[in-house]
Amino acid sequence: MIQVKGVHKSFGKQQVLNGIDLTVEKGEVVVLLGPSGSGKTTFLRCLNFLEHPDDGEITIGETRVDCKTVTKKEILQLRRNTAMVFQLYNLFKNKTALENVMEGLVAARNIPKIEAEEISRKILDKVGLAAKYDAYPSELSGGQQQRVGIARALALNSEVILFDEPTSALDPELVGEVLAVMKKVAKEGLTMIVVTHEISFARDIANKVLFMDGGVVVEQGTPEEVLFHPKEERTKQFLKRIL
Ligand code: ATP
Repeated sequence: MIQVKGVHKSFGKQQVLNGIDLTVEKGEVVVLLGPSGSGKTTFLRCLNFLEHPDDGEITIGETRVDCKTVTKKEILQLRRNTAMVFQLYNLFKNKTALENVMEGLVAARNIPKIEAEEISRKILDKVGLAAKYDAYPSELSGGQQQRVGIARALALNSEVILFDEPTSALDPELVGEVLAVMKKVAKEGLTMIVVTHEISFARDIANKVLFMDGGVVVEQGTPEEVLFHPKEERTKQFLKRIL
C-alpha cells in the first residue's frame, strides 16, 4: 500500500531526513514518534510532496514515484491518494463547517455541489457534528474544529490519511474527543500515518510504531516492542521524558 525507500531531504545545508524506509499495509495505523526537530512533519509532508524530497522512492497505492524524476502529473496522483489533517486545522475561516468539508470535493474532485453536500453532511454526522453544519470555525471549539479537519480529510476518500500532531494544539480536555474520532476511523480500516505524542492512542490503536531521531528511523515495531520494550538507548531516553 505504502512503500518508502531511502527518502532524503535537506533544507539548505541541514539534512533533515537521512534515508527513511517505511512499509505500511492497507488498513494499518502507523504512529511516528520522536523529539522536536527529528523530521516527523517533514517526512509526512514529503509523502504528498508538500515538501519535495531530494532523493528516494515513494509508492502509495498504484502510484510509484522516483523523487528525482517525478512529474507534476505523478505529484497530483500522489496527492489524490493522500489527505492530510494539520495541527492547526487549517480551516477556511469564512466558510461554515459544511462548506469546509464540501470545498475539497467540489474544487479538487469536481463533484457536483448537491452530491458534495450530501456526502459532507454524512461525514460531519460521523464525527459527531450533525448540529454544527452551519457553524463557522470561530463558533467551534478547538476539538470541534479539528473534527471538521478530519471530516474534510475523510470526505476526499483517499487511500491514506496523514495526521500531523492533530491534538497538540488542543486544550487537554478536548484531546479525547478528537482521539475518539481517530480511533473510530482507524477501526473502519482506514490506512493512517499519525505523528503524535499520545501514547495511549499509539498503544491502543497503532499496528506499528516508529521512533525517529536525527532524520532516521531509530527503531520500529509493534507498540508493545517500541513503547514498552525499546531496544535503543535513544528510544528509552525519549520515552522516559514523555511517559
Ligand atoms: P516537531 O515535533 O517540533 O514538530 P518535527 O520532528 O516534526 O518537530 P520537522 O518539523 O520535520 O520536525 O523539522 C525538522 C527540522 O527541519 C527542524 O530543524 C526544522 O527547523 C527544519 N525545517 C522544517 N521545515 C523547514 C523549512 N521549510 N525550511 C527550513 N528548515 C525547515
